[in-house]
Amino acid sequence: MVVPYSAEPATDFTKEENKKAFKDALEQVKKDFGVKRPLIIGGEHIETDDQITSYNPSNKEEVVGHVSKATTEHIDSAMEAAEKAFETWSEWDPKDRAELFIRVAAIIRRRKHEFSALMVYEAGKPWNEADGDTNEGIDFIEYYARSMMELADGKPTLDREGEHNHYFYQPMGPGVTISPWNFPFAIMTGTTAAPVIAGNTVLLKPAEDTPLIAYKLMEVLEEAGLPKGVVNFVTGDPAEIGDYMVDHHKTHFITFTGSKATGLRINKRAAEVHEGQDFLKRVITEMGGKDTIIVDKDADLDLAADSIVNSAFGFSGQKCSAGSRAVIHKDVYDEVLAKSIELTKELTVGNPVDETYMGPVINKKQFDKISEYIETGKKEGKLEIGGETDDSTGYFIHPTIFSGLDPKAVIMQEEIFGPVVAFAKADDFDEMLEIANNTEYGLTGAVITNTRENWILACRKFNVGNLYLNRGCTAAVVGYHPFGGFKMSGTDQKTGSPDYMLNFLEQKVVSEMF
Ligand code: GLU
Repeated sequence: MVVPYSAEPATDFTKEENKKAFKDALEQVKKDFGVKRPLIIGGEHIETDDQITSYNPSNKEEVVGHVSKATTEHIDSAMEAAEKAFETWSEWDPKDRAELFIRVAAIIRRRKHEFSALMVYEAGKPWNEADGDTNEGIDFIEYYARSMMELADGKPTLDREGEHNHYFYQPMGPGVTISPWNFPFAIMTGTTAAPVIAGNTVLLKPAEDTPLIAYKLMEVLEEAGLPKGVVNFVTGDPAEIGDYMVDHHKTHFITFTGSKATGLRINKRAAEVHEGQDFLKRVITEMGGKDTIIVDKDADLDLAADSIVNSAFGFSGQKCSAGSRAVIHKDVYDEVLAKSIELTKELTVGNPVDETYMGPVINKKQFDKISEYIETGKKEGKLEIGGETDDSTGYFIHPTIFSGLDPKAVIMQEEIFGPVVAFAKADDFDEMLEIANNTEYGLTGAVITNTRENWILACRKFNVGNLYLNRGCTAAVVGYHPFGGFKMSGTDQKTGSPDYMLNFLEQKVVSEMF
């Protein structure tokens, strides 16, 4: 028996002892700067000459470390290792697999600040965001381990007279995890742990901006005694190995979180059957979002402003769930806008080592892309606050609010993935819902209202996978708010849900006559 699941509590950084422990971790992690991390294939550590360098986005000259660069030959050997490991790992009692991962979670919990501190440097995460990321990684493991324990004996079916039926679950084979840089620990860990706890084996390709935090998970998996070849660490250039991993005839599933363009590409490629492949691949993708907070005329306007600002600017808006559109009833529009501007003035931007509210954006490419959207915003609406960008030391972009947007404006439609929020005015609740639904995405949304009928209407009509009342639209918690979106936001297999493990299991029926 294990204790029931509950989410890992956030670290309270107002407490001096926690602050000190975190500062110590920031110092400790720095000692590893410049380290070279190998590929791990079938348990073997392989260092290649060709390397990927991971830089600190707050201080772009600072090298956090290097990882090896896998070639397609490495992918072939990793796939072979994964196939071999599957033979025995899939035979483990599911409860034993789950327990091994509960040990993995315990090790991470013990070294929590070390993981979060590394994300401050490698991903530019502010302390609380980094802490949340590590905690969410632990949550995914704890939650999926318990899910598997519950599924271990299958589910009941009916028996007719003289018949006994058994309905149970089995793993599929090797698969591929391609994880993003924005939740470089949580999503990477969740999308690796779930298929593996289910009994599959994995080739893990973490984002090239954040490979070092992913290597930390590999260290823990080794320490916990995960058999060799169950998770293979194949860092590399997506252009070189991405398609190859997806196309591989031995890949049974692909779990991907990232851009819409890449998600669609994976979905399409995975549909093709390659020589030597006698099964269909499963694709689990989480792609973009263009998430809206709507504010009704009868609403707590301070709560509205707080929800808009924190959903838009937390981790510089680099979340698929980020609230990048505020659609506001005309009667309260001016007031909510003014309150949001006031709150935004208080936000600090800078190197997150110094406990700022916002750090940098992840890299030059994103910096340029967001800067371009800011220029577009200046043409499409009124710049109320922010708009400053500075990449002299790191990739800093100030929290930016545009007002007076047409619902069809570019910055109201396209995912920016940066600290930019667009305000639009609406005449009534129906119009607000219409605007909220007018993008190709359908991930998260929030409604700020005190009118119950309008909330009930939104529950039916606001077409998103995760809808929140009187709060922001980010920060789903594993096991409490299963997470995933509709439309072009992905395949909607909710992470952190009671159903998620089924994505990585085949359902078998055995029927016996007496
Ligand atoms: N699950 C996160 C949230 O609720 C967002 C994940 C993502 O950005 O991919 O804020």
